[in-house]
Amino acid sequence: MIDANQLPSADGGLTYCAVHPDRETSLRCNKCGRLMCAECAVLTPVGYRCRECVRGHQERFLKASRADNVIVFVVCALLSGVMLALVKLLPIPLIFLLLLGLPAGGLVAELAFRAVGRRRSRYLGEIAAAGAALGAVLGMAVGVAIAVNGRIPSLEALFQALIRDWPALIFAAMIAGAVYVRLRVKF
Ligand SMILES: [Zn+2]
Ligand SMILES: [Zn+2]
Repeated sequence: MIDANQLPSADGGLTYCAVHPDRETSLRCNKCGRLMCAECAVLTPVGYRCRECVRGHQERFLKASRADNVIVFVVCALLSGVMLALVKLLPIPLIFLLLLGLPAGGLVAELAFRAVGRRRSRYLGEIAAAGAALGAVLGMAVGVAIAVNGRIPSLEALFQALIRDWPALIFAAMIAGAVYVRLRVKF
């Protein structure tokens, strides 16, 4: 806090930032009404707000628990895994993989999001994409294993199958990307 004597004595009703008492401003938070300077103001879709109100809003918005994060990870891994296993087993033309990648990812994200009652958390997009990517690799491994009569493929055989099958990798990347875009938190 600065000494009141430092403020202009006859300031004609000048007002100052609640955090920076030396900065003149007339801008108020449209939620709590506190005065804020340009540095303290945050432009939101509903107008200028102070940092505290923005933080409070985010915390109400981000309601997902740790269990919700786990559920999203598992649901994304399972669905993406099933899809990639099918891609390894069925002769799906490349063009269909490219067309279906993003909608498939959108479907995975939607089902995972519903499974947790549409609750979000800070890193939900990253968690979902990581689940989808892990599930994709496991799904491809299962597909490869079934294709070689149920034997668990060696790591080398799996690696070969993964890098040679770049259409499936692109499909997996599209799923993970779409899941991330759908579930990420944008502020
Ligand atoms: Zn405020
Ligand atoms: Zn300020």
